[in-house]
Amino acid sequence: MSPIKLGRAGRDGLPAVVGAFAPSWLVEPPDGVDPTNPKHLAELERRKKLPPAVVQWYNPTAEKCCRAVTMQHDGEAFIPRPGCCVPICEPDGFAAYLAETAKWVQFFDAKQQTAAEPRIRSDGTFYAFQKPMKESMEQMLDRWRHRIWAQIRTRPEEPCEYFLPRHILNSIVNKAHVCTSVERLKTVAADWDYADTHGQLLFDYLNEALTGFSQIFKERAAADGPSSESEAEEDTPGVQLLEKTTLAVLHSFCREFNLPKSGNKSVVVNRVAQYFIS
Ligand SMILES: [Zn+2]
Repeated sequence: MSPIKLGRAGRDGLPAVVGAFAPSWLVEPPDGVDPTNPKHLAELERRKKLPPAVVQWYNPTAEKCCRAVTMQHDGEAFIPRPGCCVPICEPDGFAAYLAETAKWVQFFDAKQQTAAEPRIRSDGTFYAFQKPMKESMEQMLDRWRHRIWAQIRTRPEEPCEYFLPRHILNSIVNKAHVCTSVERLKTVAADWDYADTHGQLLFDYLNEALTGFSQIFKERAAADGPSSESEAEEDTPGVQLLEKTTLAVLHSFCREFNLPKSGNKSVVVNRVAQYFIS
């Protein structure tokens, strides 16, 4: 087994880039550094405890690039390939890599700055979600962002976090019931870069789901009687709830979870039950 396991970065055969981070002591000091320097001696001792291939991998040379180290370690023939690794085979690769890293740093900085959720109140159109519905909504939005991002991203390796970051997605899930207009959605998704280009699309999607959820609330309230609104968790039998679930909701779920809209009903019912009844 190779000591350097980078995993499979790409999916479905798509090209991918791996970024490997390592502590500074793994990197050998440049020539001319005082060999008796205690810090370097201590670092040398630490490197000695690692498999030599790992140390070589993080200290590639013109004769032996990172990939050559891995292949040799695995007993495979090394066939040079242009741009196979940074910095030996692709000396300019660091710039692109650093730009990518900077994007993430920016992303996490922004996340901290906007941690406080915007204050906006429900206008009473939709009910606040209960836990299983929040989870369903989270999964639906996650699928939505993957689907839309796959259509618009410029490079396949760009994660959908660039499109709809998780912290914004969570804000939308938590405040979905107040999103009764595109403007309200934009307030909830305050720093969403794609609000102007994709706000309407997301609103339409959200609105459809909310209408379905709201229908469930109404039908449950009708089934449970007037005191049911304050009831927090499920004690309605799942089957009873499902019998009352509207066709529109089922259709929306079928589409989300790639289920047939006709045919084997038990498959659909089981999957829906899984998402609604915790
Ligand atoms: Zn290489």
